[in-house]
Amino acid sequence: MTVRELLRETETALSRRESARFDARQLLLGLAKRDAGWLLSHGEDPADEDLIAAVRDGVGRLAAGEPLQYILGSWDFYGLRFAVGPGVLIPRADTETVVEAALARLSGVERPVIWDLCSGSGAIALALWHSRPDAVVTAVELSEEALPYLRKNAAALSGGVVRVVAADVLAPLPAMRDCDLIVSNPPYITDVDMAALPPEVRREPEMALRGGADGLRFYRVLTKSAFSALRPGGWLLFEIGYDQGESVPALLTAAGYQEVFLQPDLAGVPRCAGGRRPL
Ligand code: GLN
Repeated sequence: MTVRELLRETETALSRRESARFDARQLLLGLAKRDAGWLLSHGEDPADEDLIAAVRDGVGRLAAGEPLQYILGSWDFYGLRFAVGPGVLIPRADTETVVEAALARLSGVERPVIWDLCSGSGAIALALWHSRPDAVVTAVELSEEALPYLRKNAAALSGGVVRVVAADVLAPLPAMRDCDLIVSNPPYITDVDMAALPPEVRREPEMALRGGADGLRFYRVLTKSAFSALRPGGWLLFEIGYDQGESVPALLTAAGYQEVFLQPDLAGVPRCAGGRRPL
């Protein structure tokens, strides 16, 4: 069987999925550790027996509801490859909106002090550091399951320069002060929406998703605790859920932030909310 035939077989096996073609390509290329050009140059080569076995195993795991990203063990975000697996939230392309909004607000700030709260795999912290290697970045995560991924990614993608702190962001963080930017993609799914999550998202850690009855638990605490940890003129930025485009800006305004803004993602959904501690 050639590589291309293996790809066809995989597409057919996955054909009940909406994203069958994408998933088949990602699975095959991810397991083969190749990029897209390889299909063009080596599509007619015989497929390695080990690769055939791994791809067929992956098809079975996908069919059983395992996320593609966990099967591959890594996923790309902001041009960087993050180690992921059970126990850590998979970085989403939507979150790049938050990274872009943060970078825009850091331009002109030298050696910015940045804290990323509920860092998970470290996607936001490491993407920011990658674009601003002069920044002093701290990534905070509580989950014992997520921390090994965060540490691994911080080591691989920043040479250990991005500092990892194991802590609960709902408790005081005395070391967090004089920040130019505090950023967070906290758990924000409401209890009602938790009950309707797609099966693959259910494989992701509930701790990274469940944001309390109304989804606002972390925003209520962090809008307050971040305020005194920011330097005057510093920014607090959040990722928010699809229906939090009014509630989170209202919390920011109530906590005293100015220049409160909303930034939509590529689908046009409000995805980032932020505000500035007055100068
Ligand atoms: N964006 C994730 C989802 O929709 C949720 C992430 C979060 O709660 N921070 O599944």
